[in-house]
Amino acid sequence: MNPSFLTAHTPTTIAIVGGGFSGSLVATHLLKTATQPLTIKLIERSDQIGKGIAYSTDTNCHLLNVSAGNMSAFAHDPAHLLRWLQHNRDELTAFFSEEVNASTFIPRKVYGLYIQSVLAEAEATAPSDVRLERFTDEVVGVQPEEKGAMISLRSGRCFAADRVVLALGNSPSAPPAIQNANSNNESYLRNAWSADALADLDTDAPVLLIGTGLTMVDMVLSLSDRQHRGKIYAVSRRGLFPLKHQAAQPYPSFLTPETSPKNVRDWLHRVRAEVEIAAAQGYDWRAVIDSLRPINQKIWQKLPTEEQQRFLRHLTPYWDVHRHRIAPRVANVVTEMLDSGQLTISAGRIREYQALPDGVAVTVCQRKTQTNHILHVRRVVNCTGVAADYRRSPHPLITDLRSQKLIRPNAIGLGLDTDTHGALYAADGNVSTLFYTLGTPRKGDLWETIAVPELRGQAQELSKALLQSLPARVRTIPTMPLLSERSAEIPQSTFLFRQFFDPATSSYTYLIGDRQTGDAVLVDPVLEQVDRDLESLDELGLKLRYCLETHLHADHITGAGKLSTGNRKKGSEIGEDSFC
Ligand SMILES: Cc1cc2nc3c(=O)[nH]c(=O)nc-3n(C[C@H](O)[C@H](O)[C@H](O)COP(=O)(O)OP(=O)(O)OC[C@H]3O[C@@H](n4cnc5c(N)ncnc54)[C@H](O)[C@@H]3O)c2cc1C
Repeated sequence: MNPSFLTAHTPTTIAIVGGGFSGSLVATHLLKTATQPLTIKLIERSDQIGKGIAYSTDTNCHLLNVSAGNMSAFAHDPAHLLRWLQHNRDELTAFFSEEVNASTFIPRKVYGLYIQSVLAEAEATAPSDVRLERFTDEVVGVQPEEKGAMISLRSGRCFAADRVVLALGNSPSAPPAIQNANSNNESYLRNAWSADALADLDTDAPVLLIGTGLTMVDMVLSLSDRQHRGKIYAVSRRGLFPLKHQAAQPYPSFLTPETSPKNVRDWLHRVRAEVEIAAAQGYDWRAVIDSLRPINQKIWQKLPTEEQQRFLRHLTPYWDVHRHRIAPRVANVVTEMLDSGQLTISAGRIREYQALPDGVAVTVCQRKTQTNHILHVRRVVNCTGVAADYRRSPHPLITDLRSQKLIRPNAIGLGLDTDTHGALYAADGNVSTLFYTLGTPRKGDLWETIAVPELRGQAQELSKALLQSLPARVRTIPTMPLLSERSAEIPQSTFLFRQFFDPATSSYTYLIGDRQTGDAVLVDPVLEQVDRDLESLDELGLKLRYCLETHLHADHITGAGKLSTGNRKKGSEIGEDSFC
């Protein structure tokens, strides 16, 4: 039978799959809070731990869509990011030059550096037996074992883990189905999140962006940054695009999870009515939407499944453009391009792609007129965002877990079923004690779960739950005779140790002596405390032989020199042999 505890020397391993914001923050909290020996294995398939898809952009024009005041990595320390930005002001001037305050929208690239530095700090200050191991590799399979699981990496390596966190984040969704199967779409079709999305694109070439959400906005910014002159078409089913942030006076909460209507139509009427009431009092609609944020998860959870599905079918695009807004500076770039006619955003469906020698002819059925319109473009960029349906996900690890029935994809096609802490449900309905997740994979359960203000809380809660879930640790008693039986054999210790503290410089000094020989060593003596040290030596009947300096003291002046003089009067050898 397996014991339900581990002995103190048994290594415990938590594997975190995915090193974006979520994985990095779970690792950070584990490093900061583990009180027992722990190995954290953080596996990231890209070469940049800490950045993930959102913060690995290499252009400064991609800004956060949440202002700096709300993007601290730590919910309990909202000013942490602002302090980090101030602290690194000089180093960051290459990325952005304006003064930073809570309402600044900083480049996402800078935020990636912040998360890397948060993780590095946690790693550097963790106890020596709490270790982080980083792997640049992809987890392709997990095999449960008697206790824990065996993790398989694409490189062929394997290792065992006691708990597994799936911090898989956002996978790009596939573009709308291509009807002309003979087209060689490789030549013109790219994904917005791949490094080659705009590679080798002629400045005057016309481009089609499929999708009109935040990813489309990113592409428009990148094209603008590259001084693109060609026409940019952006098409989505409704042609809605993100609205801009605007400073707004906070609106008091007007709904609770209990009073919120339990069907989508009534809920929409209720919110619209509140926007009108708020407007009459001088409030902006943004403040009304934002007032719902603390209870969005609960409102979502109280909707019956068919109402959640109705929301997804009819309201998601409207919700997204109002809720996930863009920085004013970003919105200005989009508006300027729209006004100049270089960018057109329209509602329609992609019907067909016909590859041409110099690009592709794309047939778009216009939503309003239901007529087909053909666009001749050089490049098509898929900006349809995140693939959240784990029932169909081609992700190798998800395919593996699905085939072993270790996970249960959410019934409405949004992520995976989880319990309140993020533990995954297996296909048989049992809650796993092995697999956990956070962030986007929990979208079906929580809806509001993809942005930093929610993720940081989940990361902290999950790390707590993980540590609590580990078997209790006990120390084994060495198999040796009881001390009383052996005391006759053990010589009395002659070792003597004292610790002193100097409050003025917050310095510790240690006295180590041998009663038998009467020799003593002082470690890190402080100049102002020489009399105290000499008195103690006197009282204990010790002779000071050496002073030991463990480091260069920036905080105090060493007392070694004075001790040497004061002590020599008493016949000490200090002075000749003292060393640092
Ligand atoms: C373009 C974009 C911009 C955004 N901007 C903001 C913003 O301004 N503010 C905000 O609050 N939120 C923003 N978000 C939301 C974003 O989801 C979160 O802020 C956060 O970055 C999500 O982090 P994550 O770690 O959960 O996911 P991800 O960033 O997707 O990270 C998951 C990581 O897991 C790795 N991975 C996946 N599978 C495996 C595997 N099998 N083996 C090894 N590694 C694997 C991936 O390579 C990836 O690095 C943005 C999202 C996107 C996509």
